[in-house]
Amino acid sequence: MSFVEKSITDQLNRPLRDLRISVTDRCNLRCTYCMPAEIFGPDYPFLEKKELLSFEELERLARLFVQKFGVEKIRLTGGEPLMRKDMPQLVEMLARIEGLNDLAMTTNGTLLPIYAERLKKAGLNRVTISLDSLDDDRFKRINGRGVPIKKVLEGIEAARKAGLGVKINMVVQKGVNEEDILPMAHYFKEQGLILRFIEFMDVGNTNEWNRKAVLTKQEIIERIHKEMPITPIAPNYKGEVATRYSYTDGDGEIGVISSVSDAFCSTCNRARLSARGELFTCLFASSGHDLRKLIRSEKTEEEITEFISRIWKNRTDQYSVDRTLSKPVDKKKIEMSYIGG
Ligand code: SAM
Ligand code: SF4
Ligand code: SF4
Repeated sequence: MSFVEKSITDQLNRPLRDLRISVTDRCNLRCTYCMPAEIFGPDYPFLEKKELLSFEELERLARLFVQKFGVEKIRLTGGEPLMRKDMPQLVEMLARIEGLNDLAMTTNGTLLPIYAERLKKAGLNRVTISLDSLDDDRFKRINGRGVPIKKVLEGIEAARKAGLGVKINMVVQKGVNEEDILPMAHYFKEQGLILRFIEFMDVGNTNEWNRKAVLTKQEIIERIHKEMPITPIAPNYKGEVATRYSYTDGDGEIGVISSVSDAFCSTCNRARLSARGELFTCLFASSGHDLRKLIRSEKTEEEITEFISRIWKNRTDQYSVDRTLSKPVDKKKIEMSYIGG
């Protein structure tokens, strides 16, 4: 009998439901909070192709997560996932996995005019597109490559036209783009799209995070509520990352992802597969578990399943809770571009 453990839980009784796959550590942007250009420069040692999991390896692992552990959602991320060649082909392979209910991608949107239709046809359900400002100068500064907003708006349009579900992510940094909160809220309300504000997080070691640069969920909500009244609404499902609010005029909603001011570790059901093929059980972990080595070895599927099962069952991660409690946390963390959001 094959090893099937559909309701596996960790030490804090959290199931495994969601898998995020970083398909590349490369990106065409250099957002200051994620891949600062000073560090991710022309000589930066990005992974070579052979270091990345192949599409076949990714499919094998994804199938195992879905069919052995009951993962229902997969999100493709990066780096910029659309920088990886032939992504529609990977999407098609993953979309065929029986038992997978939701296949999504987080992208900076700039390459969607090229790929949106093919991705939709291949079976992608939805995209989350990142945009941090509607002010061109500010956006160009934040993305570190001088890319104008127009490029992202064209990506959003292409995704909608192709019939993909679309949400927008905005990372809010105090003193950097806080004045964009209201214009972004107005614009995406009018567009009928859900905008999610993300508190600036201390991911990785290179973005010079500092608590003073975090505009908290409470502060974000207050600013919006003053001009555009909102009211909290129930999560769509247990473990939803964003706290949801609807506009009281009945037209639209927003979300806030509050990793810093209001940790949501108690319901964290996400596993992450890094660009290098390591399994991470927390966004802020300092090390992962090498699945690439296993999948390239003679190990049977059963042995690989047991290895993953053991990791999840032993999981105790709750970095954001520890940070809130000012517990000492590991300083050396995996960079966001290897592990995705
Ligand atoms: N390149 C794609 C994109 O930007 O959407 C996917 C990868 S990116 C690492 C995933 C998400 O993480 C994006 O929405 C990005 O804004 C967010 N992110 C990156 N660094 C962050 C940080 N330090 N704090 C909060 N969110 C961050
Ligand atoms: Fe690239 Fe996304 Fe990181 Fe920006 S947030 S540098 S687009 S991976
Ligand atoms: Fe999950 Fe780690 Fe984030 Fe907590 S800090 S919600 S455990 S990824």
